[in-house]
Amino acid sequence: MAIIAGNWKMHLGPTEARRFFAGLSLDARAASQELLIFPPTVSLVAAAECPDRDARVQLGVQNIHWEDAGAYTGETSVPMAADAGASFALVGHSERRHVFGESDAQVALKVGAALRHSLVPVVCVGETLEERRADRVAEVILRQLDAVLGAFTEDEPRFLLAYEPVWAIGTGETATPEDASAAHSTLRARLDETLGLARAARTPILYGGSVKPANARDLLGAAEVDGVLVGGASLDPVSFSEIASAAG
Ligand code: PEP
Repeated sequence: MAIIAGNWKMHLGPTEARRFFAGLSLDARAASQELLIFPPTVSLVAAAECPDRDARVQLGVQNIHWEDAGAYTGETSVPMAADAGASFALVGHSERRHVFGESDAQVALKVGAALRHSLVPVVCVGETLEERRADRVAEVILRQLDAVLGAFTEDEPRFLLAYEPVWAIGTGETATPEDASAAHSTLRARLDETLGLARAARTPILYGGSVKPANARDLLGAAEVDGVLVGGASLDPVSFSEIASAAG
């Protein structure tokens, strides 16, 4: 079973979120994958309570604060996100790191907060184009991974990793299946060194970066790729379900 996750970013308010779920039709293959949607926080309740939402589509929050409550105007705590219907939390998405200046230390705090309240963190890592050109892919993604690994043991709790090269996000540029496999192997080897072989083998590593129906089958078929995190192409229910159907 592959994991097909859709990150709506700052798109689809509550009314459009309901429309998405009303328009989402899953064939048998799509429905047999693990399906996640990350709506904007303001649309979470509408998504969670939408009578048209296929219950097999689980929900997550795109961003969380590490404190449970307090004077943090504009932020969302994990207990609030969970109460609104989230079971997963994106952490360290490249737009959080690069547009909002989130540090590895803050990403680690957010992972800790998600785990305190039993949300499954989806930890995103990825290099910029400059870092790729300087041959620093492994160094960068391992630094980002190492920052959060202390939160996990050989057995628990569950987390997902997403390799999202920054240069491929929202740009139409896609990593080749070989690029994705190479980065995923690097991450899995680190999981093996730190958390052991069994845990490394069962930790899903998703690829993200301009995934669409036309390239989903090749990316999902690549070695070490356990699923995809989809931005732009997840806004349309037809293309989201086509990507899910492309999983083997
Ligand atoms: C994302 O937002 O995580 C993403 C991968 O975006 P896109 O598919 O639009 O590149």
